[in-house]
Amino acid sequence: MKKILISSCLLGQPVRYDGQSKPLIHSVIDHWQSEGRLISICPEVAGGLPIPRPPAELNQSLQKVLTEDGIDVTPQFIRGAELALALCNKHNIGYALLKESSPSCGSHKVYDGSFTNQKINGQGITAKLLSEYGVSVYSEDTIAQLVSEIARQ
Ligand code: SF4
Repeated sequence: MKKILISSCLLGQPVRYDGQSKPLIHSVIDHWQSEGRLISICPEVAGGLPIPRPPAELNQSLQKVLTEDGIDVTPQFIRGAELALALCNKHNIGYALLKESSPSCGSHKVYDGSFTNQKINGQGITAKLLSEYGVSVYSEDTIAQLVSEIARQ
């Protein structure tokens, strides 16, 4: 059975910067969970950041992650991405369902670094690394495509 890596916050775990979660309410999530198909990770927490933590955004070049006060948290984000990739390798995971717009997990959009709620096209640090290593990354916005893909297995 093909496993799926999933953002912990989408499973209702309170791991976000503000101590909240972003549960993805979808019947297939319960089904996949009952099958034991889902493996969860919060890359930011895995990388060593606390809960709660200051919000952070990728800068315009999408190379660094900074808090609003200018603290560089890129190393923790990279560490989290590497641990997510290691989890994929360990479980032979080819699919990931990650929270859109996060500087770690965003697969199509990220906040633009201005902390003004503006988004730009781009990938978060973890989504980018997983994609580079052949993991197909989906978000809550593209879950229908993932459902079709898994159904074809
Ligand atoms: S890093 Fe990913 S899993 Fe963790 S809170 Fe942010 S979006 Fe959710």
